Amino acid sequence: MDPKTRHDLEKLFLEHIAQTSPFSSRFPVVRAEGCYFYDSNGKEYIDFIAGIAVTNAGHCHPRIVQAVEKQIRCYAHTMVYGEHIQAPQVELAARLVSVAPPGLNCVYFLTTGAEANDAAIKMAAKLTGRKTFCAFHGAYHGDTVGAASCFGHAGFRAPYDHILLDVRFLTYNSDCDFHLIDNDVAAVIVEPIQGEGGIIVPSGEFLTALRRRCDEVGSLLIFDEVQTAFGRIGEWFAAQKFGIVPDVITLAKALGAGYPLAALLGKREMLHQFAAVPPFSHITTFGGHPVSCAAGLAGLQVIEEEHLLSNSRIQGEYLKKQLERLKKSYRCIVDVRGLGLMIGVEMESDTCARRVVNSAREKGLILETTLLNEAVIRMSPPLIVTKELCDQALVIFEQALAESA
Ligand code: PLP
Repeated sequence: MDPKTRHDLEKLFLEHIAQTSPFSSRFPVVRAEGCYFYDSNGKEYIDFIAGIAVTNAGHCHPRIVQAVEKQIRCYAHTMVYGEHIQAPQVELAARLVSVAPPGLNCVYFLTTGAEANDAAIKMAAKLTGRKTFCAFHGAYHGDTVGAASCFGHAGFRAPYDHILLDVRFLTYNSDCDFHLIDNDVAAVIVEPIQGEGGIIVPSGEFLTALRRRCDEVGSLLIFDEVQTAFGRIGEWFAAQKFGIVPDVITLAKALGAGYPLAALLGKREMLHQFAAVPPFSHITTFGGHPVSCAAGLAGLQVIEEEHLLSNSRIQGEYLKKQLERLKKSYRCIVDVRGLGLMIGVEMESDTCARRVVNSAREKGLILETTLLNEAVIRMSPPLIVTKELCDQALVIFEQALAESA
């Protein structure tokens, strides 16, 4: 792309695309393949974000591209979700159930993570007849009204406080507020590892006690696995890592292997009550889009055939060990944490983290901070990442640290 075109595009981007961030990288992405991005000058960048835990099988994996190409030649859309038998949906649902925690045997497809969380919230309200919810400080569940009601940050909720649901906020990774989960609570929504809150891994005891408390008072337990599922933390689902069976798991991001797709994964009777009693209780036009489902199915096959669950564990451990080593030499690193390839590097300040992210990008490594804790640099590369590529990324990261510290 010639410099003029690039300049024009940036101008149009600023003029006509609603801006979400004061420090948008304005990265002019032209192509992405495997673990790499290419900009308009053909420069190669290592992608250590994966669209925020979306492209787990890597960009443009040939198997996923082939599945999409095949599906777009058959049909894109034929009818509102749930009315036609569409093979990509059915096959993906069956595949999901086959790797799910026991008893979660039914899938309701949607399009985005926030929409899935909203649906889970509605389902809990309907099934329990209650209208109060519990969520956690530091939580992010998306930006639709129901999901945003559970946003664990008062500043983000403030402009909408007058239209939000009744939500009680509890301390994450502690049972000190469990008394707030009482007989009025329809559901507790929790990320089994907080992503946007700064990659916070809770104890297994916390999640086990949460399950127990929900059972005691008859509240549903919603696991928001929008970020954690499909190998990101080295298991199909974080629920399995912690040995917990929630009432419903919400899914999105990597589910569609790069295409928009989300789902509720739960018990058949519950999903039936939610969606079909009375008939057409919850319907969606584009939920479970056949092209996204075809991509998602191919993505799951790649995860399995290329052993990406174990690769996530192996490369994640390696990265964390090397980052711990860097922590000893660079005082600006405060903490290194995470599971599998969902890693957070907490820096001494937001500005320090931003400097490192910007410097790393100039040197060819794409990183980002987390939404609610901007001192935390997240590392969530595609799960196909190799040790050699981790080493290359670490060299760049160390250069950026040296420059920015
Ligand atoms: N839940 C979690 C844990 C997330 O991290 C996100 C997005 O980052 C969402 C929900 C919202 O998903 P979406 O952006 O697809 O609405």
